[in-house]
Amino acid sequence: MRSVSVFGATGSVGESTYDLLIREGGPEVYRTVALTGGRNVARLAEMAVALRAEIAVTAFDDCLEPLRDALAGTGIAVAAGTQAVHDAADRPADWVMSAIVGAAGLVPGMRALRHGGKLALANKESLVTAGQVLMATAAANEATVLPVDSEHSAIFQALVGEDISAVERIILTASGGALRDWPLERLAGATMAEALAHPNWSMGARITIDSASMFNKALEVIETREFFGVDPNQIEVIIHPESIIHSMVGFRDGAVMAHLGAPDMRHPIGYALHWPHRQKLPVARLDLAALGGLTFRAPDEARFPALRLAREVMEVRGLAGAAFNAAKEVALDHFIAGGLGFMQMAAVVEATLNRVSSDCSLGNAALTLEDVLQMDHLARIKAAEAVNLVKGS
Ligand code: NAD
Ligand code: MG
Repeated sequence: MRSVSVFGATGSVGESTYDLLIREGGPEVYRTVALTGGRNVARLAEMAVALRAEIAVTAFDDCLEPLRDALAGTGIAVAAGTQAVHDAADRPADWVMSAIVGAAGLVPGMRALRHGGKLALANKESLVTAGQVLMATAAANEATVLPVDSEHSAIFQALVGEDISAVERIILTASGGALRDWPLERLAGATMAEALAHPNWSMGARITIDSASMFNKALEVIETREFFGVDPNQIEVIIHPESIIHSMVGFRDGAVMAHLGAPDMRHPIGYALHWPHRQKLPVARLDLAALGGLTFRAPDEARFPALRLAREVMEVRGLAGAAFNAAKEVALDHFIAGGLGFMQMAAVVEATLNRVSSDCSLGNAALTLEDVLQMDHLARIKAAEAVNLVKGS
């Protein structure tokens, strides 16, 4: 029986993962080691019972009592707090889903890699902040990292049987998010509710807002560079409003391989769950005649400064990704809380990168996880200062 753990089980990707595990037979087919979640302890407990997990962990200390109550008499162990989430990753599992949102997902994934096995990586922030460290850790432990972000799963599938040296370019598709058809001058006043109305994908709130600002695509460009090891100038972004082509790979003979499918995360999650095999998955089948057409347009950098910043981050590499992601998370917190405008998020990230790089050299070749975590911490402090500056400007 295969053993599995799901970090961030109660989130959007976590729910889709759970859905697949249950449909495939749940505890009859999979031995669930650890499930982690946040404040929704009722849902976490429900999942833990249905999958007969060994341990359920909430990231928040004050949620321990309700989780313990919800699981009383079940024999399922409970724990709470950041440390407990990290420790849960020390329990070996054959397949581990990394679906915590934000930089908080980095350490559990890194710890899981120490056991070898497969790490299904939805948490793109892991590659953005610590790509080199993460890939080196995977190689050293003979672990396999499988991409779950739909674009990266698409590229990964297009590369099966191919030689990476024959790749000329990688074309990441972007829906353009909720505000893609807004005139530029209205964007500054976009509200959270408006940014949350994603046209195609149902996802967690943070990544949905990141889609509207293109910070999500910016993270994905860096993720592509770190995971596939291609040169930054080989990575292109194209707006594709229908979200049917999940990404494309162009080869040196001029061929372009595209991956198409319904926008449903159960496809990339299921691919990672069964890799290298394909199994039947409960996703809608494409009706191309009903779709009629697929459209494309070039992204406008004035609307999306995040893409330009991603290019700068890739040029510096080293710790720049950690600073970029941390600043983006702080800016997003302030947009969600109110007070920071939609277009001011990019201004905060840019100011933070400038401030951090004047204090220390970001392009450090030999990186450790500790270096990354320290930069994450420092950049959050600088970003909070930048928020005040940008708000006052
Ligand atoms: P979500 O907000 O729906 O869920 C996040 C999960 O992480 C929840 O279980 C939550 O309880 C947990 N969590 C939140 N903060 C935490 C913390 N500090 N410590 C520990 N756990 C914490 O997020 P999501 O949309 O499922 O996205 C998860 C990850 O997958 C993100 O990195 C996102 O970029 C990536 N991703 C998501 C999608 C999607 O369709 N939702 C697609 C591609 C990639
Ligand atoms: Mg994606």
